[in-house]
Amino acid sequence: MPDYDLVVKGGRVVVPYVVTRKSDVGVRGGKIAALAEDIPADKAKKVIDASGRFVFPGAVDSHFHIGIYRPFSEDATSESTSSASGGVTTILTYFRPGKNYLNKTGPYRELLPELLDLSRGSYLVDYGYHLTMNTPAQISEMEWLVKEGGVSTFKYYMFYKLLNLAGSSADGTNYLMTDTPVDFGFLYKYMKEVSRVNELYGDYGKICLSIHCENPEIISATNAEVKQKPSGNPLKDYSDARPPWQEELAIHEVAIIANYTNCPVNLLHLSSRKAVEAAAEVSSRYPHLYFLLEGTLHHLGLSNDMDLGQLAKVNPPIRSRDDVEYLWDSVLDDTIKTVVSDHACVTKEIKKGDLWTSLPGFGGTSLMFPILITEGYHKRGLPLHRIAELSSSNPAIAHNVYPKKGALVVGSDADLAIVDIEQEKEVTLDRLFTAQDFSPEEGMRLKGWAECTILRGKVIFEKGKVVGKPGYGEYLRRPVKLHYSF
Ligand SMILES: [Zn+2]
Repeated sequence: MPDYDLVVKGGRVVVPYVVTRKSDVGVRGGKIAALAEDIPADKAKKVIDASGRFVFPGAVDSHFHIGIYRPFSEDATSESTSSASGGVTTILTYFRPGKNYLNKTGPYRELLPELLDLSRGSYLVDYGYHLTMNTPAQISEMEWLVKEGGVSTFKYYMFYKLLNLAGSSADGTNYLMTDTPVDFGFLYKYMKEVSRVNELYGDYGKICLSIHCENPEIISATNAEVKQKPSGNPLKDYSDARPPWQEELAIHEVAIIANYTNCPVNLLHLSSRKAVEAAAEVSSRYPHLYFLLEGTLHHLGLSNDMDLGQLAKVNPPIRSRDDVEYLWDSVLDDTIKTVVSDHACVTKEIKKGDLWTSLPGFGGTSLMFPILITEGYHKRGLPLHRIAELSSSNPAIAHNVYPKKGALVVGSDADLAIVDIEQEKEVTLDRLFTAQDFSPEEGMRLKGWAECTILRGKVIFEKGKVVGKPGYGEYLRRPVKLHYSF
């Protein structure tokens, strides 16, 4: 009778916060059961040879947008396939009521079961939801969402406040499908409730508000300026139309309200030097508060001097080379704690229109390891165990799925990404396994591709082929310490 269902043999295990060391990994019942220098092959039902490779904890991609522009279940399947092919074993994805997504609003007691029904049988990797509250009634459901729904993180989009400032739909589209103005008064009440629920459940994990920090009033003014005098480089124009200093302003506004409400905040997708400086400044000004600083693959991997065109339009915009270097410095010195894809699958058809009307966002989840390893490890000396922290353990801790996820220790889920850090490959669409028909990174040559991805002991991707099936992925109730026993 073998002791293990699976043994990953001969690889170098990348242990977050510690080291990289040669170790075999024994898996039993979907969990890591042993880490040892040598586990005899005859003790396992199945052996995977990882010699010459690095064994990372599967990545936890904590910023995603399943179903934003495409049918929900279809998008969950195609884009979690993309994640699986890139060594990402957990997706934590944003959902909000209103236009796009399910094109509806209502109470989360109805919306969440619908979301979970659409999710069941659709995902290849494990998944959880961050939810946006757009009305006082939805805010009042947050305690229930934490306790019964398994949702412990919430979101606020600052730049939606102009859409609903005057009650219903200042721009005539009623984007959020509500008459509630989601202005600073709304944010104040929202933060008060996050803080109250965090007091109640904080022992199990941080109940936190993710905020998209951009200031809509400034954007209205700077947009008009750039439209009058465009430079002809669409990404530079888009960056000038939403300049870094309005991110800086937004972060300071948010921090002041957070201080008066004692609300934990995840500062999403910091794109610029100004944004990171502001985030670092408020973190030191209010040391008693919790601020998580998030960076994205595209803000680290792309700059607006590249010839990418408007397909690379995203909010906040792709910034200058100087900003990109500052972001990397902030990753290296541990100021930025999590790196995410902010994956939103689009197609050229969905993105049609001019620079100003085209929809923002694009996908990149499967490039998590290639970008961190090529741009971080090879070019800038970012240690591999730090890559495991940024891509897996830090997001797992911050978003309440640790130690089930994000840990290479006995008892944790056997989620592994076996990565070749040396072999260079060109980014081609068929390597990304996504429904997106372009990639801003297409044609780049990157190292650090996942060769094999393992979810709870099951191989879901190997030798260039996705072998997992929709439905392998399970819903993660968070905080996991409230919903599972360890
Ligand atoms: Zn996003």
